[in-house]
Amino acid sequence: MTDCLFCKIIAGEIPCDKVYEDEEIFAFRDIDPQAPTHILVLPKRHIPSLASLETDDSAIMGRLAIVSSHIATDLGLSEGGYRWVVNCGSDACQTVPHIHLHLLGGRALGWPPG
Ligand code: AMP
Ligand code: ZN
Repeated sequence: MTDCLFCKIIAGEIPCDKVYEDEEIFAFRDIDPQAPTHILVLPKRHIPSLASLETDDSAIMGRLAIVSSHIATDLGLSEGGYRWVVNCGSDACQTVPHIHLHLLGGRALGWPPG
């Protein structure tokens, strides 16, 4: 999608601090980190949000989870723990309409979230 910020980052049109890429998944550091480690992990294919997932998306969402787990381990987060967040829609403060998983870690995280 041409006017999507994250599609532009994936295409290399906007710079990012990339931490992972394969044929289907892309991951980079959040520009406004909310924890010492804050990575965004997303499918390269433009899926707007959790609310737009379809049955055919099960494989890519499974890969998103497995890759995110491996990134967390590679960044040394597995022992202390970490959190995944996927915001969906305005009530959850989703600001970029290209589905993405926030991987947050490196400090004690409060609960419940705001
Ligand atoms: P969300 O609010 O769940 O849609 O998350 C969007 C995230 O994208 C926010 O945490 C932003 O800080 C992050 N973000 C926005 N623009 C950029 C950018 N150019 N590079 C990296 N992260 C970004
Ligand atoms: Zn997109």
